[in-house]
Amino acid sequence: MRHLRNMKIFLNRAASPLIALTAVIAIAIASAVLCTEASAAEPKSSVGELCASISKTIAPFKWNMDPCQGVDWSVHGSSVQGRPLVYTEFGDPQSKNVTLVFAMVHPDEITPLYMGIQLIRYLQGHPADLKDARVIIAPLVNPDGFFVNPKIRMNSRGVDVNRNFATHDWKTNALRAWKVRYKSNARRFPGHEPASEPETRFQVQLIQKFQPRKILSIHSPLNHMDYDGPSSLSLDKFPKDYIQECLKLRTQLNAVSTGFFPGSLGNYAGQELGIPTVTLELPTANAAKASEYWIKFQSGIHSMIDFKIEPLSPRHDLAIGLQ
Ligand SMILES: [Zn+2]
Repeated sequence: MRHLRNMKIFLNRAASPLIALTAVIAIAIASAVLCTEASAAEPKSSVGELCASISKTIAPFKWNMDPCQGVDWSVHGSSVQGRPLVYTEFGDPQSKNVTLVFAMVHPDEITPLYMGIQLIRYLQGHPADLKDARVIIAPLVNPDGFFVNPKIRMNSRGVDVNRNFATHDWKTNALRAWKVRYKSNARRFPGHEPASEPETRFQVQLIQKFQPRKILSIHSPLNHMDYDGPSSLSLDKFPKDYIQECLKLRTQLNAVSTGFFPGSLGNYAGQELGIPTVTLELPTANAAKASEYWIKFQSGIHSMIDFKIEPLSPRHDLAIGLQ
């Protein structure tokens, strides 16, 4: 803030009212930018506090794990209630084979948290598995809903952050689909504006920062793998050979396409940006079954990480979603 103080000193000395006015405008703009960045990015609590809260909350699940042991967390912004939004990365930072993994977009689904932490544990112990791969994992995308009792699907403003992505159809369809298709079900409220929620913007910003070739988002309890991305339906939108590569991944994972929603990650990243996006829907939200799911699904996750796919060229404009 030193430059603002200097500006005030300058203002006191300014002889010309025009110069003074220009300086006042500059101060106002600088302050607005600083305030916006500060309120969007600065968590009120620490990563250590977040880890302690997770440990306490998962204790009744008897998962027998320390969620943060040895994890090198990076913080990218803050949840609505001021908790740090964290991710960690593994593998070769130079590798273009980037897989982005999200878990706990819906905090009441529970079992995805175990999968996210177990994946971190596994990659900590098997660095040789990532010779030509880079993996970014955000295991608790939406922390606020996880620490309330009972846990909720939405964030602390009551928004389903997986209906809040600024897809092209958001303004025309998101609220209408919510009212008509979901009969204004509060669990699926998309927000009043696209990309209004920090937990949604967190995901967008990780996509922009790491330019993943593939995205895996772990949910429960629908018990299938859902593929969103280039398909035969988008032949006019993406090159044919790129579509074929994406479909190989879908076939390998035995994933299905179940349709997509205004403001969902699958619509935003898969349909609009053309990044193959797989939603792993675990069979239940039953914490007692979490270790069973890890055993069952870990090979699919590994094969997704290993799967190499050439980039969509030219890259789509990843700036959408932040407007
Ligand atoms: Zn979900």
